Amino acid sequence: MADIKGFLKIRREAAAYRPVCDRLKDYKQVTKMREEEDSRDQASRCMDCGTPFCHWGCPLGNYIPEWNDYMFRGEWQKAFELLQATNNFPEFTGRVCPATCEYACVLGINDDPVTIRENELAIIEKAFEKGAVVPRPPKERTGKTVAVVGSGPAGLACAAQLNKAGHKIVVFEKDDKPGGILRYGIPDFKLEKWVIDRRIDIMKGEGVEFVTGVKVGEDYTAEKLLKEVDAVCVTGGSGVPRDLKIEGRDLGGIHFAMEYLVQSNRRVAGEEIPPGELIDAKGKKVVVIGGGDTGSDCIGTANRQGAECVVQIELLEKPAECRTGDYPWPHYPLLLKTSSSHEEGAQRQWSVLTEKFVGKDGKVKKLVCKRVEFEEPEKGTCPVMKEVEGSEFEIEADLVILAIGFVHPEHRGLLEELGVELDERGNVKTGSDHQTSKKGIFSAGDMRRGQSLVVWAISEGRKAARGIDAFLMG
Ligand SMILES: Cc1cc2nc3c(=O)[nH]c(=O)nc-3n(C[C@H](O)[C@H](O)[C@H](O)COP(=O)(O)OP(=O)(O)OC[C@H]3O[C@@H](n4cnc5c(N)ncnc54)[C@H](O)[C@@H]3O)c2cc1C
Ligand code: SF4
Repeated sequence: MADIKGFLKIRREAAAYRPVCDRLKDYKQVTKMREEEDSRDQASRCMDCGTPFCHWGCPLGNYIPEWNDYMFRGEWQKAFELLQATNNFPEFTGRVCPATCEYACVLGINDDPVTIRENELAIIEKAFEKGAVVPRPPKERTGKTVAVVGSGPAGLACAAQLNKAGHKIVVFEKDDKPGGILRYGIPDFKLEKWVIDRRIDIMKGEGVEFVTGVKVGEDYTAEKLLKEVDAVCVTGGSGVPRDLKIEGRDLGGIHFAMEYLVQSNRRVAGEEIPPGELIDAKGKKVVVIGGGDTGSDCIGTANRQGAECVVQIELLEKPAECRTGDYPWPHYPLLLKTSSSHEEGAQRQWSVLTEKFVGKDGKVKKLVCKRVEFEEPEKGTCPVMKEVEGSEFEIEADLVILAIGFVHPEHRGLLEELGVELDERGNVKTGSDHQTSKKGIFSAGDMRRGQSLVVWAISEGRKAARGIDAFLMG
């Protein structure tokens, strides 16, 4: 611990955002990068407490106090080496992680926590700037080949780890470019795509092979693949969106969030979308159903496209602004989040049930909604939702985005062909070594865990790699 009084002298300075009027004109990263001196000041706030709960709060078990200390001392290379020991892609988590670690920071008990995510980003970007992040192919190859199906953060982490262990890795991806939701879900204003390309180039330099535009189970049979490799890891994500099957759902102008975001991300990357397929918010009254992060990404996108107005509705109650007894420290609390996209303009409403969509000439024109309230649950049971009598109201809309989550991975094709067992939620079932019910077939990420976070996907990919390495090498 370099500065024993750092946390007493320096206040937390979270990442600054570009001004709203400026950032709405483009899709560039909203968060500004910090100056080196500010990063070192923020690192000095880490108390290096005896039991670092932040380390427990991070699904990757990042060595947070240790790299904060190196950073404060300006020993960037050492900080980078420690960071990459546990996290394959700090440049992704440093930009999009909800920083579960910060909610477990001991300083956060009675003060503002350390800016752990921004510190992580500062370390990795400094490493790139200094040329420290270069391809490091393994010295020896084992002669074993592993196919990774899906190139989201779980697949990439699994591939990177197995490649380091000397196995030959082929990553199959159905889209035309690798990255999964990092590329086609998360908008550029949170994660610019050159950040992914830069990492993919390094992985290619280390010998990882990427086969894009190939859907395993459709374009390439799983049977054929199994004959060619020694093990397979399926990391295909949780691709089936939750639907709202109510009256009027088949009207035009109602889309799933991923239909909207994938298209927008492709347009930002310079692709042309055929006019008949275009989903554009320009001049429209937009309603986003779903109060989570995906909904927030849709708000930011709609505002950049020039929506007339954006309303976000959520079925659940408005969360608390501060930690309540339900989520004691150091657990990750369910709190009200106001994202950079919310700041850019959106009306948010909670406890709203959508009853039906009403349209004209086949296109959606409004939503008919009701207010709901939740009765305090009996111990150990879920709250009971009740509609408030006479609370019916309407919201005008000519574009509705459904951002209410995902149910499970696509079963048809890959998973059916492999014949792996599923759990009660329809996700791929595995043992603690990530091996499925079929020998030599492993799984990780949202496909196994259900819809989750980038940091969990990386953690899962690393654990699956460990299971595969043990399976191959004994
Ligand atoms: C819009 C949106 C925003 C999000 N924002 C955040 C955020 O800010 N922070 C955060 O931590 N988490 C966020 N998440 C969650 C996070 O992105 C996911 O938890 C994470 O990407 C899961 O990683 P994965 O590798 O398991 O799957 P994915 O990222 O879904 O990748 C799966 C890949 O597999 C490919 N694939 C599927 N089937 C096949 C097949 N048969 N053959 C070949 N390829 C196949 C898919 O095309 C895809 O590229 C967000 C999610 C969404 C939807
Ligand atoms: S990956 Fe996320 S949880 Fe882990 S240290 Fe970084 S910001 Fe915190």
